[in-house]
Amino acid sequence: MGLLVVGTPLRWEDALPWLHHVRRNGIQQFLETYHRVKDIRGDVLKWGDELEYGIFELDPETKTARLSLRGSEVLHELMDKEERFHRADHAEEECNWVPEYGAWMVEATPRVPYGGFTSDLRRVEQSMRLRRARLLSVLKPNEIAPTVTAFPLLGVGDYVAPPVNRVGPIANSLYIDDRIINPHPRFGTLTANIRTRRTENVDIRVPIFKDVHTKQMLEDEAAWVAEHARPTYGDATSAIKSPQRGNSPKKEVAPSSEPLQRLTRRHPSFAESCEPHPGFIHMDAMAFGMGMCCLQVTFQAKNIGESRHLYDHLGVLSPIMLALTAATPILKGRLADTDVRWATIAASVDDRTPQERGVASADSAPASYSQMAGDGVKRLPKSRYEGISAFICNHKDGEDCHANLDHYNNVEIPYDEESYETLRANGVDDILAKHIAHLFIRDPLVLFEQRLHLDNKTATDHFENIQSTNWQTVRWKPPPPPSGDGPAPPHIGWRTEFRSMEIQLTDFENAAFSVFMALVSRVILAFDLNLYVPLSKVNANMEIAHRVNAATEEVFYFRRHLAPPDVDECHRADCHVQCSATCLDDAAKCIHGAESFETMTIAEIMLGKGCYYPGLIPLVNAYLDHIQCDDTTRRLLDKYLALIAKRATGELPTAAAWMRRFVRAHPDYAHDSVVTPAIAHDLLDTCAKIGEGTLPCPELLGDVRIEPIRGNTAYQVPLKSESVDTAKRSELLQRYV
Ligand code: ADP
Ligand code: MG
Ligand code: MG
Ligand code: MG
Ligand code: MG
Repeated sequence: MGLLVVGTPLRWEDALPWLHHVRRNGIQQFLETYHRVKDIRGDVLKWGDELEYGIFELDPETKTARLSLRGSEVLHELMDKEERFHRADHAEEECNWVPEYGAWMVEATPRVPYGGFTSDLRRVEQSMRLRRARLLSVLKPNEIAPTVTAFPLLGVGDYVAPPVNRVGPIANSLYIDDRIINPHPRFGTLTANIRTRRTENVDIRVPIFKDVHTKQMLEDEAAWVAEHARPTYGDATSAIKSPQRGNSPKKEVAPSSEPLQRLTRRHPSFAESCEPHPGFIHMDAMAFGMGMCCLQVTFQAKNIGESRHLYDHLGVLSPIMLALTAATPILKGRLADTDVRWATIAASVDDRTPQERGVASADSAPASYSQMAGDGVKRLPKSRYEGISAFICNHKDGEDCHANLDHYNNVEIPYDEESYETLRANGVDDILAKHIAHLFIRDPLVLFEQRLHLDNKTATDHFENIQSTNWQTVRWKPPPPPSGDGPAPPHIGWRTEFRSMEIQLTDFENAAFSVFMALVSRVILAFDLNLYVPLSKVNANMEIAHRVNAATEEVFYFRRHLAPPDVDECHRADCHVQCSATCLDDAAKCIHGAESFETMTIAEIMLGKGCYYPGLIPLVNAYLDHIQCDDTTRRLLDKYLALIAKRATGELPTAAAWMRRFVRAHPDYAHDSVVTPAIAHDLLDTCAKIGEGTLPCPELLGDVRIEPIRGNTAYQVPLKSESVDTAKRSELLQRYV
C-alpha cells in the first residue's frame, strides 16, 4: 500500500499549511509525466497480481485464534532471503515482498511481471504457490497464513496477545489497539490524519445477518448495553486525552441474570463486546478496512489510449467480479448481512468532513478548513475508497472510441476547479483533466517533512501521494518517473489496475480469477467489445454486489450487445431483448428507444443469454481458438474457466457462502450470528489447510485437488541451518533410528 518514504510524517495540524502546495505541485508533476510519456507506443503486455496475507496464531488447546504481529519481522526475513539468494537468470522464480497496513500483514507480487505469451498464464499459479511456500517457511509452528480477506475476530476479546485495555492515541478505537497498525510511521499518520480531518472516528456499520436466534441475542445485548456505561471516545484531535477503555463505572449485574449467562456462554468477555447499535456490527477504525486482504491485477497497455479504454471496461466489470469472488461474511465476531469487504473499507478510510458528507452546513466550518481541498465544505458524495467515478476513454489507436461517454458518464463528477483549469491549459483533454482533478478533490494525508520541496521534473511524490490514496475499483497508472543514477530500470508503460476482487482460499482460485481477467482484457481489445453501461448503473451494481449470495441470487445491469451489430435495422417489436441493432454506431439506445443494457445474473453474464448475448466465458474460448492457444495451457485454462462458470451458476459456492455455511454447521454455533473464538479457530485452521493443500475441499473446489504446498519438490525449500529445538529433533530422528 503505497510507497514507503523514510522521513518524518507531519501531524495534521502541521500538514494543513502544505496541503495546497502538495496538490498544486502534484498537478505539475502529473503534467511533466504526461507530456513525457503520452506518446509511448507499442508497449507489450506485461502484467502481474498482488496477494495480501494475514498471519495468525492458533492455539489448539484453548481453541483460540489471534493476530500475530510479526508482519515486519516476516517481511524483512523474506526480503533478505530473496535478496541474498537472488539470481538474475532465475528472477522469474522470485517474489517481491512489501509491507501492508496491518502489523500482522504482508503483500507479495511476482518479482518479474508475467509476459504476453500463453505460457505466461501457467506461471501465475506457480508464482502464487511459491509465495505461499516461502511465507510458510518463515512462520513459527503455531502460525498460519490462510488467504482470507478478514480476520474474523478483529476487535473482539483477546484477538491479540497480550490483550490491551487502552484506547490508543492513533486510532482512538474502542475495539482495536494501535499496536496492530504497521509500525512504519506512514500507517499511523495515515490513520490519525484520516480521523482528524474527518473530525471524529470513522463510523462503520454493517448489518448483522439475521439467523434464527439473532433477535434474542440482540435483545440480550440491548439489555446489557442499557444497563452499562460504555467506554467513550477521546478527543479525536488529541494524542493525549484518550480515556482508558473499560474504566467507566458499571452497574453490577447478578451473574445469574439470564441474558448475561446467554451472552457470556458464547465468549467469557462477550458481554463487554456488545454491539452499541442494535442490528449492526459497529467498527470505528481504519484497521477494520485496511486490515483486509485482496487480490489485484495490473496490466500494461500498449499506449495511453488502450490504458484508458481498459480503465472503463474494467470499471464496468469490477462490481461483477467483486460479487463473484465474495469472501467476507464475518466481521468483528459476527456473521454479516453482506458478503464482500468493499463498503467496510470505504467507511474505514472516509476522511470527509461533516460538511463534505452533507451532515453539517457549510457555514459551520471552522477557519482552518480554508487550507483544505474544496475548503473542506465541497459536497463529496463518495469516500476516497470507492467505485470509479468517471469513464475516461477518449480514443483508441488514435481513432474515435466507439463510446458515447457523455451518455455513460451520467453521474456528476466532483472535481477540483483549479487543478482542472491547469490541466486544460496545459494540453490535457477534457475527460482526463476531470479524472485527475477529481482525484485532487482529496487532500494528501501523509506529508513527509523532508519531501515537501521537490523538483517536479523528476519527482512524482506529490502526485502519487494523492493518486495512491484514491482507492477506486480501477486505478489508472502513468509510468513512473525516470530514475536518476544507476543502470536503467526495466521500462514500465501505462498501466491499468483492477482492484475489486476478494482474495480466495487457494492459489488455484486466485490464479483462475487473475488469469480470467487477463484473458477478458485481451478479449475486450481483440474483439473490440463495448461493455459500457451508464455509470449510475455501475454504482448500483456495486451496491448489489454487497448482498448475501449476490453471485447467484441477484441481477446486475449489463450490456446486451458487446460487439458491433451485424444487422443495421431492428425488425422486432420486442427489441428491448432481441434487437441486434442496439449499439449501432454506439447510439446509447436502440432505434426503438430501448436501453442498451438490461439486468442479468452473473451466470448469464459469464455464460450468455438468449441469442444476442454470448457471455464472457464463450468469448474467452473463442479468443483462445483465435490465438491457437497451446494444448497444455488450454487444459489449465479449461479448469480455471470451469471454476468460474461453477461459481457463477452456484454449482460451487463463493468463499463467502462456504464460510457462512461452515459457521452455521459448527457445533459451537448458537444460530445467533455470533462467531465464537472456537468457531473462528476452526474456520481459520480449515482455511489454512485448504490453501496449503492438506485438506481436500470438494464443496468449494469441485473435483480440483490442491497439491500440497509444503514438502512439494517443485517449490524451493530453504536449507535451514537455524537450530531445531530438542523435542522436534528427537521426533525427527525417531523416524530414522
Ligand atoms: P501497487 O501496490 O501500487 O498497486 P505493486 O507494485 O504492489 O503496485 O504491484 C504492481 C503489479 O504490477 C505487480 O503484480 C507487478 O508484477 C505488476 N507489474 C510490474 N511491472 C509491470 C508492468 N510494466 N506492466 C504491468 N504490470 C506490471
Ligand atoms: Mg496492498
Ligand atoms: Mg501492491
Ligand atoms: Mg497497494
Ligand atoms: Mg495494487
